[in-house]
Amino acid sequence: MKDDRVADPAAEPAFDGHHRPEWVPERAGEAEGFTTNVMPGIKSRHDGLPGGTSVETTIYPATGKRPELTVDEYVDGVLSGNRSILARAITLVESNAERHREKAQEMLTRLLPHAGQTIRVGITGVPGAGKSSVIETLGLRLCERGHKLAVLAVDPTSSVTGGSILGDKTRMEQLSRNRGAYIRPSPSGGVLGGVARKSRETMIVCEAAGFDVIFVETVGVGQSEITVRSMVDIFLLLQIAGAGDELQGIKKGVMERCDLVVVNKADGDNTLRAEAARADYDRILHYLQPSTEGWKTRALACSAYTGDGIDEVWAAVEAFRANTTASGVFEKRRQQQNLDWMHNLVLEQIKRSFYGNANVRLNMPAIERQVIGGKISPTQAATLLLALEADKDGVCVMPPEASP
Ligand code: GDP
Repeated sequence: MKDDRVADPAAEPAFDGHHRPEWVPERAGEAEGFTTNVMPGIKSRHDGLPGGTSVETTIYPATGKRPELTVDEYVDGVLSGNRSILARAITLVESNAERHREKAQEMLTRLLPHAGQTIRVGITGVPGAGKSSVIETLGLRLCERGHKLAVLAVDPTSSVTGGSILGDKTRMEQLSRNRGAYIRPSPSGGVLGGVARKSRETMIVCEAAGFDVIFVETVGVGQSEITVRSMVDIFLLLQIAGAGDELQGIKKGVMERCDLVVVNKADGDNTLRAEAARADYDRILHYLQPSTEGWKTRALACSAYTGDGIDEVWAAVEAFRANTTASGVFEKRRQQQNLDWMHNLVLEQIKRSFYGNANVRLNMPAIERQVIGGKISPTQAATLLLALEADKDGVCVMPPEASP
């Protein structure tokens, strides 16, 4: 693809390898300690990786503002596996701006036929369970075997607390340096629904870019696990032995949503305890409804540190894939997920258009005050608000507010 944003070479003097700036004395170079020749700067931004500038990069005019790409450029860039365009495509998908939304959807429609030939693996567990360590150890092995791995995160806490449980430390350092892997932190801003939409769409972009294994990581808090379950093929619950509350997963019903329980940190002094915990989980799982039809949820033990058991975890993922593909459950689940996603998007759109309606916004504060003050019931208020939205003339049908 021709890139016309690169600075015009004609505008720069040709470099003959001996460029002498005008301030260099005539006989400099013969005298010791005087630098004479000036090397030209690197024309593209270095990607920081050893072995030269293999990544396609571009320099931009000094305004600092990058020109917007066309949908064609996004699609071509993503399909050819161009990392910098991939990152920009994801940024486009994550944007909340209305004008980006349309472009993102056009791009996604074109990328969709190239996505899907993957395994989508969800992974959850309390902070500290070792999610990033396991993904790193497993991910490096998968890269070695020629897989291309994208790691996405769904972390709704980033919008609630302003910080992020998943993103506040240097994570997966080795994996992030591996050319076979791409790690994208949780999109920020907005409610979980928004974060989930962005992650789903990011997944499509990564798949179209040739990543064949997708990890979607989430923290073991509340709704985010249900959200991630709804976008992956197989769901892993990472546990640790002796965390004080072995039944934590059961209470929250997470164990009924997962396909594999993996007890991490089975190393050193902890090996026996981890094995005992694994056996306990296996016993408990026996009494629970499996999450996937035709697949018996099982418990494994591993260590992200020593690598023990890591291959077995992946073997179980492969077995799950083979088993559910043969039974048709794999495809059926993806179809159902797409339908659920569609319905979610409809609801999201309805909500956005309702709360964005000028008449609704104008009258909302007064109606809220009336509900708080017990002047009208929530049901009456909802009916009123819906009528306000439907009122094309923008006439306020609010009952007069009682003076305070
Ligand atoms: P996350 O919050 O679930 O992503 O957990 P991390 O991967 O950041 O790991 C939390 C802590 O547990 C870190 O201090 C890790 O070094 C440690 N850890 C992770 N995996 C293992 C393991 O297999 N064995 C041991 N002994 N420690 C581990």
